[in-house]
Amino acid sequence: MPRPVSTGRVTGYDVMDQEALVRVGLELVIVIAVGGMLVSALRRLLKGQVTVHRCPACGRPTTRANPRCRHCGAAVGPDA
Ligand SMILES: [Zn+2]
Repeated sequence: MPRPVSTGRVTGYDVMDQEALVRVGLELVIVIAVGGMLVSALRRLLKGQVTVHRCPACGRPTTRANPRCRHCGAAVGPDA
């Protein structure tokens, strides 16, 4: 013999189940997105497309975003 409380609990459980499903789906999307970025970054790294820019004057690693070498102050970047 069915009880009204049981029906309410079943409905509540179904809603919770849907929320959990959405959460799991979102987590899966995030994991796939982050994993894809990591894999593509690793691939570029292994192919050698990502190289450390080195200062032509002192040979230390530097960045092209900075017009001058952090270590010795020599001009680096496109103008150098
Ligand atoms: Zn330098």
